[in-house]
Amino acid sequence: NVRVRFAPSPTGPLHIGGVRTALFNYLFAKKHNGIFVLRIEDTDQTRYVEGAENYIINSLNWCNIAYDEGPGKNEKFGPYRQSERKHLYRKYAEKLLASGHAYYAFDTAEELDFHRKDHESKGKTFIYNWHNREKGRLVNSLVLSEKETQAKINAGDDYVIRFKSPQDETLNLKDIIRGDIKIDTNILDDKVLFKSDGMPTYHLANIVDDHLMKISHVIRGEEWLPSLALHYQLYRAFGWKVPEFAHLPLILKPTGKGKLSKRDGDKLGFPVFPLEWEDPKTHDVSRGYKEDGYFPETMINFLAFLGWNPGTEQELFSLNELIEAFDLKKVNKSGARFDPDKTKWFNHHYMQEQSNDTLAELFKASNKALEDIDVNYIALVIGLVKERATFISDFWDLTYYFFQTPKMYDEKAAKKAFKEGTEAVMNHIIDLINDIEDFTVENLQHAIKGWITSNEIGFGKVMMPLRLALVGALQGPDVFDIMFMIGQAESVKRIQAMIK
Ligand code: GLU
Repeated sequence: NVRVRFAPSPTGPLHIGGVRTALFNYLFAKKHNGIFVLRIEDTDQTRYVEGAENYIINSLNWCNIAYDEGPGKNEKFGPYRQSERKHLYRKYAEKLLASGHAYYAFDTAEELDFHRKDHESKGKTFIYNWHNREKGRLVNSLVLSEKETQAKINAGDDYVIRFKSPQDETLNLKDIIRGDIKIDTNILDDKVLFKSDGMPTYHLANIVDDHLMKISHVIRGEEWLPSLALHYQLYRAFGWKVPEFAHLPLILKPTGKGKLSKRDGDKLGFPVFPLEWEDPKTHDVSRGYKEDGYFPETMINFLAFLGWNPGTEQELFSLNELIEAFDLKKVNKSGARFDPDKTKWFNHHYMQEQSNDTLAELFKASNKALEDIDVNYIALVIGLVKERATFISDFWDLTYYFFQTPKMYDEKAAKKAFKEGTEAVMNHIIDLINDIEDFTVENLQHAIKGWITSNEIGFGKVMMPLRLALVGALQGPDVFDIMFMIGQAESVKRIQAMIK
């Protein structure tokens, strides 16, 4: 039974790397008819950020990455917020104390700092482990007697519970993406599992919850790979079945050098967050994909390709197609370069897939100038220019002249289009337009093209000034389509305004 989880810590907005982790978990679960769990890892109260949990949930919802179990949803193995599971963890820390896999440590922050500096001054690194834990300079239950230990606890001394990492052992770890990994336990430090504030650390809570929530596969970012040895040993110490692990590759800057950060986005002009985020303390606002005009389909498609590819030429995938094609074994170990231009390319594609009505609603909602304009008319306009748009925000520049008379003429265009004799030609065109009884694109074409041919006038001599009058510039879709859309009277009005 496949059960996977996405386990973010609500310490701020979710970076696209986090959304990618969620997506890969989701795809893997759906591919194997499994369950996708959302668990909020909020045991570190010092790093808790107001609003971050909601942000995470809203982001997943916007991307259509639906979880099967999570806070407030099918709480079969709940609660799914670690702060609400506090009472659970102590007992597991005690189990490890009893079996000799963990010990109490009373060293104060100042003492540890002293050891660190002392080592540094000798050109060494201080690691709290087998090397020094029983030598008496550190204060823990391995050097103190049971009585002394108990006395310190009773006296209310601050302590932590550390994992006792073994000496001289080689761990054989497995990762679905990276294959076999050998780790020498001598280099590991005795990580803190439980803090004196009564809260477990990430490591203990994570393993206990993955076990209790029957997680079969742990799929997460590469930054957790260094923790794998500890996690593996924790499962072993508890006597629990070890889940399978897959560590997803880093997401790299567009240059391919180094990890993608928010600063890269700010500098190069793309978001690194799915939704806009306002920092509750500084009130700084970071832009989001949604607000920048990307479609959720775009997001899913480009994220899927950060570290994975189907092994074929196909680049466009819907969520369902991704579920079908996804394979953890095809995920690369090397970092995945983020390509902001490619995201735009995807968005252009998904723009074409939206109905004109949907786009019209979005466009109308985005621009005050469209407040009083019929949405059906906007949809027709969009049908004419959609091919050239990547974002909803492109539409205004592409279509303003369908909604208002041009206020000015592009200077260069005017020079090119308005020549001697143009006025007379345009007066003829006005007559031709006024004479059309049934104002259709065909009748317009017939009248104007027919007149051009029979008078042997250069096509450009008519069409360029005509376009200038209608649009204010030499751009836009077919001139006859434009006239038809704005109507007979408005067409005439615009030509008159130009030659006036
Ligand atoms: N809470 C960890 C995080 O924020 C989860 C790591 C894991 O998936 O084990 O990324």
